[in-house]
Amino acid sequence: MQERDFSMERKRTRPVWLGTAQVGGGAPISVQSMTNTDTRDIAATVEQINKLALAGCEIVRVAVPDLEAAGALSLIKARINVPLVADIHFDYRLALAALDKGVDGLRINPGNIGGREGVFKIAAAAGERKVPVRIGVNAGSLEKDLLDKGKPTASALVESALRAVRLFEEVGFFDLKVSVKSSDVPMMLEAYQMLAEKTDYPLHLGVTEAGTLRSGAVKSAVGIGILLSKGIGDTIRVSLTGNPLDEVRVGYDILKSLGLRKRGIELVSCPTCARTQIDIIKIAGEVEEKLEGITAPLKIAVMGCVVNGPLEAKNADLGVAGGKGTGLIFRQGKVIRSVKEKDLVSELVREAEEMAAQTAAKT
Ligand code: SF4
Repeated sequence: MQERDFSMERKRTRPVWLGTAQVGGGAPISVQSMTNTDTRDIAATVEQINKLALAGCEIVRVAVPDLEAAGALSLIKARINVPLVADIHFDYRLALAALDKGVDGLRINPGNIGGREGVFKIAAAAGERKVPVRIGVNAGSLEKDLLDKGKPTASALVESALRAVRLFEEVGFFDLKVSVKSSDVPMMLEAYQMLAEKTDYPLHLGVTEAGTLRSGAVKSAVGIGILLSKGIGDTIRVSLTGNPLDEVRVGYDILKSLGLRKRGIELVSCPTCARTQIDIIKIAGEVEEKLEGITAPLKIAVMGCVVNGPLEAKNADLGVAGGKGTGLIFRQGKVIRSVKEKDLVSELVREAEEMAAQTAAKT
């Protein structure tokens, strides 16, 4: 059976550009995150953004709760190399201030941004600067008139987004991205699928308020992954209660698991069982940690015994199949040597770094 190629089945959307970063229009699906520093603390925010960028974050959003935070944006932007999006709620004037400071994108929440006049002013100012706007609907802050007996629904999320889309379109602004997030996975799945039928603006996917690392990663992988597998989605944000760096790591893991992006290590490791002959849990954890900084795509298999080990290790770029206190190291499908268990991590890391350097030299 032929392997399914999800990258060939993507729904065509219009492109928008945040600075030089393209979203939609067939561009690779980008990974976003959001800082959790106080935006007014320029040094802390810049430090976090630069760490996020190093981890592969391609678009960074910062909250702009007041004019002082808006005032910090140009100083932040001057010290980073990744497109900067201002996240605006309640007051359209904050969006105007953020645009003045040179942000690359805006996110507004139609549930709380106020009336038509504010939206028109944002559209005029963003249009002048060619800055795209994300209409970011959130089930937790929907317009009251759209709630069904006080509760959000998938169709209400879509209607909220489309109302805002129509307002922007009324004044000739089409540089839009849209999201319809909910913390409820079935609801966001339904909403995004409905929205994808009704619009060709690029879609920003996310399960909002998804939870802490484990539960948030699982919810996000299910919600975002199902949509991506149907060709829906142009950019993703995994939203976790925790370190935003984990949002980026989980985001790439979702994309890598569907073959939609290649970046860094893809680890294949066995779950361990009574046949395990080396300490796979420790070895896999250490290999993953030590190779975190590698950006070249490398599939590494860390396997405990000879049942599935040799084949998995052979099919990876680099692999180890455990024996009694030793491991056979495979590189590009061939056994290169047998190594004592205590040296396996350092040997795998050395080989991986060498392979990554060779890939970098070729590209
Ligand atoms: S590869 Fe071997 S050790 Fe690992 S889970 Fe499978 S049978 Fe067990």
